[in-house]
Amino acid sequence: VLAAMQAHLDLYAAAARRRAEDVVQVVGAALVDGDRVLVAQRGSGPLAGRWEFPGGKVEPGESELAALVRECREELSVGITPQAFLGEVPLPGVVAGGAPGASTLRVWWGRITADHLVAHEHTEVRWVTGGELDDLDWIPADRPLLPAVRALLARL
Ligand code: C5P
Repeated sequence: VLAAMQAHLDLYAAAARRRAEDVVQVVGAALVDGDRVLVAQRGSGPLAGRWEFPGGKVEPGESELAALVRECREELSVGITPQAFLGEVPLPGVVAGGAPGASTLRVWWGRITADHLVAHEHTEVRWVTGGELDDLDWIPADRPLLPAVRALLARL
């Protein structure tokens, strides 16, 4: 099982390196515990007050999964184990120097392994059920991913 999982992760890492040449990649984490997923309210910038999955930009030369782990550590002080890719959406416009329209948000689901959750950059974090997801005021990029997250919570 571990070997299969590693092969799976290697494939995604290779894909992330190919993409890194022309695409500013943003990764997000749907962190699951039981029947709930962690959502976070942005604390600053034009999207302040709106909800998102924790995450951020993949740095040059960094793999997608390394970025996912790093962002969760930086933003929430948690260790995570990515489990599987959930879905991606194109990001409108230019995200931090990328070509217009060339950025995508790619969301993985995972679990928190080392838990001392502190919201360093977000105003608030909440654990919500699939049924509560739609009612939050989401940043536009993340909302299209909600059906995939709901389906995940329903089958776990
Ligand atoms: O969090 P950070 O500011 O590093 O995110 C970089 C960019 O990725 C921002 O433009 C933000 O709107 C976008 N983002 C997103 N969905 C997320 C996290 C970040 O669209 N879940």
